[in-house]
Amino acid sequence: MEQIHVTLPDGSVKDVPKGTTAAEIARSISPRLADAAFVAKIYSNNGALANYGDATADGGYLIDLQRPIEQNVKLKILTDKDPDALYVFRHSAAHLLAAAVMELYPNVKLGIGPPVDNGFFYEFLREDPFTLDDLAKIEKKMHELAAQDIPNERKLIPKPEALELYKKSNRTFKCELVDEKAVEPMVSFYTTGKFIDFCRGPHIPSTKRIQAFKLMSVAGAYWKGQEGNPQLQRIYAVAFFTQKELDE
Ligand SMILES: [Zn+2]
Repeated sequence: MEQIHVTLPDGSVKDVPKGTTAAEIARSISPRLADAAFVAKIYSNNGALANYGDATADGGYLIDLQRPIEQNVKLKILTDKDPDALYVFRHSAAHLLAAAVMELYPNVKLGIGPPVDNGFFYEFLREDPFTLDDLAKIEKKMHELAAQDIPNERKLIPKPEALELYKKSNRTFKCELVDEKAVEPMVSFYTTGKFIDFCRGPHIPSTKRIQAFKLMSVAGAYWKGQEGNPQLQRIYAVAFFTQKELDE
């Protein structure tokens, strides 16, 4: 089987079969590291890496722990010590919020849901405004889903099929996003149980470790920030790795 060289931060090199995942490499280093890992970062030995999204400030590419590594790279396993891991964690928390909202209010339409300073938001189109009671219900559902340890799984879908999927379920904003943003023939999606979202990722492996968060407020926002577009409701939340950090 074809081997690749994976260089670790201490300069040591691991020769592993092509397609080995960062999770497997983490486990081979130490079970403790594997358990602490949220996401991985790879650096190319020569130029940019295609198919991994945009590079971070230090020239690395964030990837799922479960994503097979296909070429020689430098690899960093990211734990709660790394700000990039917190960013990915908050993005996964945004997906958990959307998953909870879709279970409770299946007819809402989804906008976007990125991480932001201290937390994340997700946008929803819904006729009735979300009340404080709704937020409490959603938060409870998020904790339920987190406790179920649902994996976040990457899925590639051909673009026409992706558009059809959203058209069929009348998810007009997502349709628009796939249409505009998906440049490759295969479109990247992430599933969390029944929930599916057009998303480049990466994500943390599962919902289990998303415990320390609080839904804070609801604010109106025009779709794509443009006046005249439909007005969505943004649910803002704060999220940290630990309850202690959240309390502070
Ligand atoms: Zn996403």
